[in-house]
Amino acid sequence: MQSFVQSLKAEGKSIGFVPTMGALHEGHMSLFRKSIEDNDVTVASIFINPTQFGPNEDFNRYPKDHKGDMEKLSTLNVEAVFLPDVAEMYPKGFSTFIYVGGIGSILCGASRPDHFNGVATVVTKLFNIVIPDRAYFGQKDFQQTVVIKKVMRELGLDIDIVACPIVREDDGLAMSSRNAYLSDEERKSALILSKALQYGKTMMMSGKEANISLVKDKIAALIKSDPLVKIDYVEIVGIEYLEKIKEIKLPVAICIAVNIGNTRLIDNIIVE
Ligand code: AMP
Repeated sequence: MQSFVQSLKAEGKSIGFVPTMGALHEGHMSLFRKSIEDNDVTVASIFINPTQFGPNEDFNRYPKDHKGDMEKLSTLNVEAVFLPDVAEMYPKGFSTFIYVGGIGSILCGASRPDHFNGVATVVTKLFNIVIPDRAYFGQKDFQQTVVIKKVMRELGLDIDIVACPIVREDDGLAMSSRNAYLSDEERKSALILSKALQYGKTMMMSGKEANISLVKDKIAALIKSDPLVKIDYVEIVGIEYLEKIKEIKLPVAICIAVNIGNTRLIDNIIVE
């Protein structure tokens, strides 16, 4: 992989990189398209990274669709797909991790304690292998984009992190590989996330509700109206540092995480 990109770089070509965990959908495809637009060469990776999963999470059952992924990628100008195996990325005795600090223990990090350390570690390893000029991430994982940008700044890595808009199904559900876990009934309940975000956004934009904790309470009450949906958090945070905001001062991000059955879903919206 390194010699492949180094030979392209020697020809003066720019490299765009899209790291994924596979089971590709239109959300991923939008990142590839943006990278292809911006760069001479686009590289994808597919790696289900064990270090970002907690002990009771879905690492062992995470959706896999190698054939479908390769078919989807073959419809685009993606020059290379990097598919390492776990033993190659984490050889026996591997013990070096990036610790992202407090930003990794709020929002999703509160219920997934080592998640962002695992993400930062694998992304940095992948960056050292692919050596991209730009890397593309979805705003779907909003906290992840903020954490990765911070890691790049603080470790002095010269890679542009490009955050791309959330791609949704026609009915508003944010696309996610984990949507495949949902039963028909759960899939219907999952629509409450995008509805609640729109409701929150309208409330804030209209200026009718100026009290942040009331906005959060009203969003939470709407979500709770669906008995299948269990809230992990509803938060309204600043878009650069993810600090909890006390009064409405745009732009902010409304971020939601819920559990529906055994499936954890996240979604967010930026209110500008
Ligand atoms: P994953 O395979 O879930 O690790 O996702 C790989 C990349 O695709 C991450 O940067 C995600 O944020 C991004 N992504 C996932 N779902 C979406 C979506 N619905 N819209 C935009 N980007 C997405």
